[in-house]
Amino acid sequence: MLMKECRRKEPLFRALKFALLLIIMISASASCPASHSLQAAAKKRISLPRYIFLFIGDGMGAAQVKLSSTLLEGGHALAMTSFPVLGMATTHASDRLITDSGAAGTALATGKKTTIGTISMAGNHLDTLQTIAEMAKAKGMRIGIVSSVGIDDATPACFYAHNASRSNLYDIARQMALSGFDYFGGGYSLGNFPENQAKSKAFKGDITELMQSAHYVIARNKTDLASVKPGGRCWAYSNYDRKGALSFAMDSHERETSLAEFTREGIRLLDNPKGFFMMVEGGKIDWACHANDAAAVAHDIEAFDKAIATALAFYRSHPGETLLVVTADHECGGLSLGNTANGYETRFDLLRYQKISLQRFAEKVSTWKQQGTVTFDMALDSVKVYFGPGNVDAASPLALSTHDRNALQETYLTTMKIEAPGTKDNDTFSPTVCALLNNRAAIGWSSNAHTAVPVQVFAIGRGAEALNGFYDNTDIAKKIIQIAGLKPR
Ligand SMILES: [Zn+2]
Repeated sequence: MLMKECRRKEPLFRALKFALLLIIMISASASCPASHSLQAAAKKRISLPRYIFLFIGDGMGAAQVKLSSTLLEGGHALAMTSFPVLGMATTHASDRLITDSGAAGTALATGKKTTIGTISMAGNHLDTLQTIAEMAKAKGMRIGIVSSVGIDDATPACFYAHNASRSNLYDIARQMALSGFDYFGGGYSLGNFPENQAKSKAFKGDITELMQSAHYVIARNKTDLASVKPGGRCWAYSNYDRKGALSFAMDSHERETSLAEFTREGIRLLDNPKGFFMMVEGGKIDWACHANDAAAVAHDIEAFDKAIATALAFYRSHPGETLLVVTADHECGGLSLGNTANGYETRFDLLRYQKISLQRFAEKVSTWKQQGTVTFDMALDSVKVYFGPGNVDAASPLALSTHDRNALQETYLTTMKIEAPGTKDNDTFSPTVCALLNNRAAIGWSSNAHTAVPVQVFAIGRGAEALNGFYDNTDIAKKIIQIAGLKPR
């Protein structure tokens, strides 16, 4: 009986002895130098951000940001301009002062300079440059790539593909299927358009099928995307135009998935204990700048900023482990706020009269041309409806002078002439209408192309202080590599 009780108590006694030993070991190790270094290492591990966001406003110079914030309704401020850290970056390519999205995207994705039109390869077009997204994947983080333009357009491509030319769209799109990244969202694959499939020397089949074979769930609309379960791979797109892009924000319909929704869903799908890297591009800002369409620029920056706001909300719930960086790949259009016609006065509020993008208006003009029944007076009515200027009180800033009317009529008549077969459609009327409103609003444009003006860098979160100052665009990637503890090959 006594023996039995002793045997029953023996395991309990052994457990107590083990616990005592453990307490002694822990208290002894707390004061030894080796444990100090262990603690320091653990602290260092904790201090690395697990969630990295890189937002790229394509073509988004400082003037574009200021214009958009000026036009925000209801006294709202842009999320990006609330960030505590501000830097400025030069954008030149290795072979040209004025860059393109290939060379600039490569700089932001790899920390290395390359030549115009190159996608994450060295200027010799032989060496592949490893991207921060690939480094993050090697570290076990999940990866998301989002863009409002084609998902194989230069900027997003620079994070997952390596190609000597940004125009090899099908070959770039194929690399999306081979990347092993977890989430692609936004525009459609330009490379999967038949004309681009035909251009490839290495056609391997439809991109959607290649993506499915690589275990990507294809989400073609909002409902599809909302039903995708986290953990797997997903390629999500929405309504897209002839260039594979989302609509300009000011033309967008609520059934279309917005850049903010693609970002929010991306966070939902990517969130995991090992962290994630997500690149989000506001690509249509650049397209609006190329068109010198200030109202469309302002709206697309607002849409881009709403995507940033979803990441900012995530940052607020994970402040110690999130880094958020917002920048641009280059300025586009040479936008200036103020022009000779207005001197020191500005009337940016006039841009609110513009209801659709210049591109959407030009599509209407093209339809009129085919119909051949729209008179100049009818066209002027449409100008008033969609842009504001017209037959109004002469004192109004929207009143058309005889000179304006004549200029519009001349371009209208030229635009309506049917060109010889095979000749390019030459619409000079739509850009004249848009320029008229921009001019009244005191907006100046110096170019239809990119410029060499440095761009802003906004940052918040773990390690963001490193992004203070004036540096080169390659330094942005280098700083992210350092802050996030990524290990280049
Ligand atoms: Zn551009």
